[in-house]
Amino acid sequence: MSATQKPQVLAATPLLEARALTKHYVVGSRLSRSGKKLVRAVDGVDLQLMTGETFGLVGESGCGKSTLARCLVRLQSITSGSLMFEGRDITSLSTRALRPLRPRLQMVFQDPYASLNPRRRVGNLIADPLRVHTRLSSVQIRARVAELADLVGLSLEQMERYPHEFSGGQRQRVGIARALALSPRIIVADEPVSALDVSVQAQIINLFADLQEKLDLSYVFIAHDLSVIRQVSTRAAVMYLGAIVEIAPTATLYASPAHPYTRALISAVPAPSVNRANRQREILEGDPPDPASPPTGCRFHPRCFKAEARCGSERPLLRQIAPERSVACHFPLIEAAAGS
Ligand code: SF4
Repeated sequence: MSATQKPQVLAATPLLEARALTKHYVVGSRLSRSGKKLVRAVDGVDLQLMTGETFGLVGESGCGKSTLARCLVRLQSITSGSLMFEGRDITSLSTRALRPLRPRLQMVFQDPYASLNPRRRVGNLIADPLRVHTRLSSVQIRARVAELADLVGLSLEQMERYPHEFSGGQRQRVGIARALALSPRIIVADEPVSALDVSVQAQIINLFADLQEKLDLSYVFIAHDLSVIRQVSTRAAVMYLGAIVEIAPTATLYASPAHPYTRALISAVPAPSVNRANRQREILEGDPPDPASPPTGCRFHPRCFKAEARCGSERPLLRQIAPERSVACHFPLIEAAAGS
């Protein structure tokens, strides 16, 4: 995984698979003026992560990406649908039953600082998962922390410092070291570079790539910026208001987006990182609608330059239009290949 070198997908069986996954929750109260509302944060998502792959997930803030991320590692319960990990159904496993699986499914967050206790030394913070989930001795834990520090490009001396003494990029390295401590198979990275300067972003993206190669990791990599997704992933899904609207190999997604929303996201990427042919008139106006009261029909129709009457009443389903390529749109920007 990197701008220049992306690993091959190693096997045909998905390592992680979501089928019609939904996460709904209730907000508000009976006593409030607006009453209770049901938010469909994730609404029927199908996706597969293959071994050795980096799967990109992109969409605006509030589209449900983070909720989906937490469902994929079972940090949140799932309302309906299913989640398979290594061929096993983990949709409804209890906290206790999930415990042996936790080390293999890890998350990296956008703001590692928020999850790092400011009063504890970084070396101790990295050691925490080892103390909770393993029976290693303190000598073995110290050795493992040294190994993890080296893997993420931090020094032993830095392990004695406190989180506030680190830059944003260094803190993200600490977050990654914690995620790696228990030798996971999958890392779900939720906007891990969004808060960083562009030059630091590149360093962290390269670190993810190096680690993938060394440790045989598979990633779900989440961003709101398509140019980041293009650098890191081999396949990507575009999410809008709780649903996936397009899935394709990342290069294809960029070269010829099929969904009007994908094209609008590409238009928002600064030139010259985007083919001029794709920088057309789609300026994405307004904010995404409230997920507690989404538009009827196609949820994108109030913002879509291509909307027709049918779009306001009939919700388009995700359908395959070419090998490895699916779109949820009545009038996609490219035609379906014959036989798809
Ligand atoms: S279904 Fe209609 S409104 Fe929705 S993206 Fe396609 S053209 Fe636009």
